[in-house]
Amino acid sequence: MNKRYELVVAGGGMSGVAAAVAAARQGKRVLLIEQSSMLGGLGTAGLMTMVMTSRKWFYGIGLEILESLRDQGQARWIDDYPVKDYERIPFDAESMKRKLDAVLQESGAEVLLYSRITGVEMQEDHLKALRVSSQVGDFTVEGDVFIDATGDGMLSFLAGEDFDLGDEEGNTQAPTMTAYYAGIDFERYEAFLKTYENGPAIPKVNMIRDLIPKAVADGVVSVCDLHHPGIFRISPCFNVGVMNAGHIYGADCLTPEGLTQATVAGRRMAEEYLNFYRRYVPGFEKAYMTNTCSYLGLRETRRIRGLYTTTFADKAAYRKFPDAVMRFDGGAVSDVHASSADKKAYEAYYKLFTQARETVREDDWAELPYRSLLPAKTKNLLVAGRCLSADREVQGQLRIMGYCFMMGQAAGTAAAIAVNEGKAPRDICVAKLQEKLEEAGVKTR
Ligand SMILES: Cc1cc2nc3c(=O)[nH]c(=O)nc-3n(C[C@H](O)[C@H](O)[C@H](O)COP(=O)(O)OP(=O)(O)OC[C@H]3O[C@@H](n4cnc5c(N)ncnc54)[C@H](O)[C@@H]3O)c2cc1C
Repeated sequence: MNKRYELVVAGGGMSGVAAAVAAARQGKRVLLIEQSSMLGGLGTAGLMTMVMTSRKWFYGIGLEILESLRDQGQARWIDDYPVKDYERIPFDAESMKRKLDAVLQESGAEVLLYSRITGVEMQEDHLKALRVSSQVGDFTVEGDVFIDATGDGMLSFLAGEDFDLGDEEGNTQAPTMTAYYAGIDFERYEAFLKTYENGPAIPKVNMIRDLIPKAVADGVVSVCDLHHPGIFRISPCFNVGVMNAGHIYGADCLTPEGLTQATVAGRRMAEEYLNFYRRYVPGFEKAYMTNTCSYLGLRETRRIRGLYTTTFADKAAYRKFPDAVMRFDGGAVSDVHASSADKKAYEAYYKLFTQARETVREDDWAELPYRSLLPAKTKNLLVAGRCLSADREVQGQLRIMGYCFMMGQAAGTAAAIAVNEGKAPRDICVAKLQEKLEEAGVKTR
């Protein structure tokens, strides 16, 4: 079964879906290849069913998808986050899965689920084909242009691109095994949270965090993890919340052995935290766990080295670029989870997450240059999503789903132009790309 497409998108998370839809809407012959049984990546299989995005700079295909879900009562905008530059949009996972299927189908893009990219065929500095493993054995897919939206930078890695991993010692942000808890009495939980007056920036998080040392002393929780993002209610109509807590410190997320260990440890933690909530937090006495995620919550793996590496300094300075393809929130804050349970590591995280919020400017934005979506070596490859070319401090912000959608849309639009003009993505006219994105409702500069 050999196939040929104008654009092949590797990975069907939010960035891959947006990339495939953007190019297919430009009339390109597109194939999206996804190893799992569903689209949405960490947003569905990873159970992170709450889009975080910029309050002001969110446009395009992602917004369209979420507004459509909202109009059907399957997503909602909530405005209670104390961090003023973020918006939170919880959504129903099953509705999102069907919506992504439908959006891709309507765009004309083809999708292959249950298909894992395992190798590449190169011709000098061009990707010629992907080797794909499936139930019917291996097959090859050829393409003119390729987009790496695997989250892990898997395709770029196979193509021989250089990458960065974690901090100077290679320590990465710890992953988390998210889970759904049902049977929560949210009214009592909310009333309990209101009793807390001690939290400067994120009261809910701090409140639960402050209970953790006691839970460790009582033997309910095994690791004193002070960073506790917490429980997020998915729908006002139901008593279900997604539990985002329990960092799996020291996990090696690039080997099957490491992923196996982390997954087993994560499932154990998801149960520990259920017991924790039941015992210490009003409203959870009858809570139970319906499921853990089927795709471990990886915050940070490979960051592919591109023609430009977007940095935290760029973000902090609200830097503008002539080849900008996306706006995002500037200021000296980011969400880089710690790599160890050490108290100092937590304090460093908390400082970066909360420091200088007063430097956030109301009517200004940072810009993502197109070159951060162009891997340095392979001429017909783009990258989108959490494996973009960025330093880890700014990746800590750009990995949220709102930005992943927009990066995907920019990469898919660029790929379509490259195919139309028979050029490498790095050689297209950037003004034309910006014009196409603006036509599609995305503010670039
Ligand atoms: C615990 C946790 C909490 C988070 N909380 C939030 C939040 O509240 N809000 C928010 O907006 N963001 C949150 N994020 C971040 C966000 O969910 C992700 O960064 C984002 O969804 C990544 O999207 P992506 O498209 O880049 O990659 P992914 O979602 O990782 O998708 C990559 C896809 O590629 C597929 N793939 C990988 N390798 C191959 C291969 N070889 N062959 C075929 N397919 C392949 C995978 O199966 C997957 O479907 C959180 C992340 C974590 C881990």
